[in-house]
Amino acid sequence: MSNIIAIVGRPNVGKSTLFNRLTESRKAIVDDFSGVTRDRHYGVAEWTDKQFTVIDTGGYVANSEDVFEAAIREQVIIAIEEATVLLFMVDVTTGITDLDDEIAQLLRRSKKPVFTVINKVDNTALEHEAPIFYSFGLGEIYTISSMTGSGTGELLDDVVKHFEDAPEEENSLPKITVVGRPNVGKSSLVNALMGIERNIVTPIAGTTRDSIHIHYNQFGHEFMFIDTAGLRKKTKVKENIEFYSVMRTIKALEEADVVILMIDAQEGLESQDINIFHLAEKNKKGIVVLVNKWDLVEKNNKTMKVFEDQIRQKLQPFTDVPIIFTSVLNKQRIFKAIETALEVYKNRGKKIPTSKLNDVMLPIIESYPPPALKGKYIKIKYITQINGVSPMFAFFCNLPQYIKEPYKRFIENKLRENFDFSGVPIQIYFRQK
Ligand code: GDP
Ligand code: GDP
Repeated sequence: MSNIIAIVGRPNVGKSTLFNRLTESRKAIVDDFSGVTRDRHYGVAEWTDKQFTVIDTGGYVANSEDVFEAAIREQVIIAIEEATVLLFMVDVTTGITDLDDEIAQLLRRSKKPVFTVINKVDNTALEHEAPIFYSFGLGEIYTISSMTGSGTGELLDDVVKHFEDAPEEENSLPKITVVGRPNVGKSSLVNALMGIERNIVTPIAGTTRDSIHIHYNQFGHEFMFIDTAGLRKKTKVKENIEFYSVMRTIKALEEADVVILMIDAQEGLESQDINIFHLAEKNKKGIVVLVNKWDLVEKNNKTMKVFEDQIRQKLQPFTDVPIIFTSVLNKQRIFKAIETALEVYKNRGKKIPTSKLNDVMLPIIESYPPPALKGKYIKIKYITQINGVSPMFAFFCNLPQYIKEPYKRFIENKLRENFDFSGVPIQIYFRQK
């Protein structure tokens, strides 16, 4: 289930400071690709075991003065539509401004939970200034300091109460979605596949979910397509096109098991695509990369390999991902794309019996053990796959804390070499035994 927190508010109130605070702890663990993600305004965060996506709306606003307020206003409207919970941030040191009032007016019409967050309350003296913000008429107020983190725990405790739990599976079919920048060919693909019959089109009753689920059942393949392309609305402010599509993408991605990331062969893999890729990876989704409009590329017998290598280079460190070259226009390899997505789905649910895992991995570990640290030898005794929606492995050993990243990567590579986990992020844990 997608749980999205959108931070809205005028510039300079501290939105991105809070965003960084919420997403950082996690970043340290999984996000060692900061170089490519600097322009990121959405990220994964966690509070009391609940994972969610945070969006800093300010990041999408253009700098030019004339579109500025209109852009902010529209982003608030989009956030109201798309987010699970809205954090309306204001600044205690400036009091209420006209733009704050305008945003509050939009938020009062929202049916979604709105938390009024008074930021920059760095000390108790400032605490006394906070009650004026009750005048928004948006209910309870929360005082925080994004800089020090004070108050953020109390805020999040209340925010997560509004999260939607994963619904009872309406069925156990694979859920596939196609994401990518505008114009790469997403709707063309869905239309090409669904041309013959459009079985089920729903907003599913009883949930707030509003993406369209299409039941595909042809040629021996059955799955659900989570389609958002058809729901893409026109925005009045051109700067918000990306913001809107990012919101949609995040929702589709969180609902799906396998994400088809479609790129345009003529444009290649850009930083936005890489951000989406990493978001899918962090959400432990299966991934297939489609390089579409292959018909438009002038090619010889090396072109595909060169393309593939370049893409993998940019996807590092998670490069064990199928890359397929399609022309939706010519219907070239579109079924192959679907078949691959379904294989990735299988890989994601794959369970390796413990005996097999140990038979294969222990000899590898024996011939290439983790390097000794401070004169201490690390002994991995046995391995087991942990139950979960995506592959997780526990390696039991005497000194788990001594195992470093390179060895972990080595283990991951060996798992991938011996068992097909193509397209699937895998988690490896070293545990005390
Ligand atoms: P945004 O435009 O809403 O994303 O705001 P920023 O996060 O960029 O913050 C604007 C300014 O306010 C920066 O100089 C921050 O360092 C500062 N700021 C953010 N949070 C706090 C806070 O809790 N206390 C204080 N004193 N300053 C803050
Ligand atoms: P979306 O915004 O990602 O849903 O992209 P669309 O499906 O609307 O496609 C954008 C444009 O690219 C349309 O004019 C399509 O006809 C065109 N297009 C889609 N796939 C291909 C392809 O494989 N080759 C070529 N040459 N054009 C394509």
